[in-house]
Amino acid sequence: YSSLLDSIIYICMGQMGVIQAALFSRNNLEIPGLKLVRNLEGFSLDKKTHYVLNIDSELIDFFLENQMCFSLDELRDRFSGEENFKIIESLQPSLLVPLIAKSQIMGLLVLGERIQQENYSLEEKRYLTDIAHFAANAIHNAVLFEMSTTDLMTHLKQRHYFFEILDKRIVQAVTKGTKISLIMLDIDHFKQINDSYGHQVGDEILKSISATIRSGLRQEDIGARYGGEEFVILLHESDEQQAYEVAERLRQTIEKQKHPQARSVSVSMGIAQYDPELDSGPDDFIGRADNALYFSKEHGRNRSCRASRVQGDTGRGA
Ligand code: GH3
Ligand code: MG
Ligand code: MG
Repeated sequence: YSSLLDSIIYICMGQMGVIQAALFSRNNLEIPGLKLVRNLEGFSLDKKTHYVLNIDSELIDFFLENQMCFSLDELRDRFSGEENFKIIESLQPSLLVPLIAKSQIMGLLVLGERIQQENYSLEEKRYLTDIAHFAANAIHNAVLFEMSTTDLMTHLKQRHYFFEILDKRIVQAVTKGTKISLIMLDIDHFKQINDSYGHQVGDEILKSISATIRSGLRQEDIGARYGGEEFVILLHESDEQQAYEVAERLRQTIEKQKHPQARSVSVSMGIAQYDPELDSGPDDFIGRADNALYFSKEHGRNRSCRASRVQGDTGRGA
């Protein structure tokens, strides 16, 4: 998906002879708008500007009605006051190409200065419209995929998707010897938090812990909501020690966070590295991480415990 976006931009830049190109795209569930996801060869950006286009706007409706490319000048009279228009205008583009799929706006391709200063011909605009159609469908598929695999409350992956990836990574671990590790994470005394401060506060804490998990992982790791207040993280190319370090970093970050009503919240974790000698599949692997989590709970909570050391408790971590 990512390289597809790059290809589309490079093709347009090459074919149209433009120096800059940027793409606003709708591939992020957290932002109900079109977010600037690519800025190749650089339009100069202002650090204070939030480059997100609101979907509910007259400008976007206009693109949806007309389904074609427009220059800034063609839109200025009609939309000069609009927030979206101001953001786009600040980039000083030569042409705007809407990406529309299934009557929905999926993105906006913004082309910059042309090497040879000339207007776009009708043929060039048609060509761009075709590319835009292709790109819009690709983004549409990606958004659908994101939505069907992501937990809407925590924005972490859903369990079913996690298991799909886990199966594939276990095969790799067995055939190629890749080291993979799991962290099982459970919020401490969460029932008590709900009982004392209400379910809504509980939900906010869940979201905040999930955000910490998301921002603490690399692209190739998978963080998922395993159950209500229980999470699982699959770390790619990581051994037990590396996973333990990630877990401890997360635990300490979460412990330090202050929540409006509840003073602070802690989590307990269990860590295991896939071991073909001990694990005959995902169930054994998860089972060992789960046992380590149980050990953390039994030994005072707010700690991380490694499956290989379940016998020995060495303070906060084990
Ligand atoms: P422990 O330290 O042993 O894990 O104790 P605990 O209270 O966290 O564990 P327990 O399993 O008894 O309770 C989990 C609670 O999590 C009960 C349930 O109501 C709450 N919970 C599960 N999902 C959600 C959710 O989506 N939102 C909120 N607010 N609470 C949830
Ligand atoms: Mg709990
Ligand atoms: Mg639990």
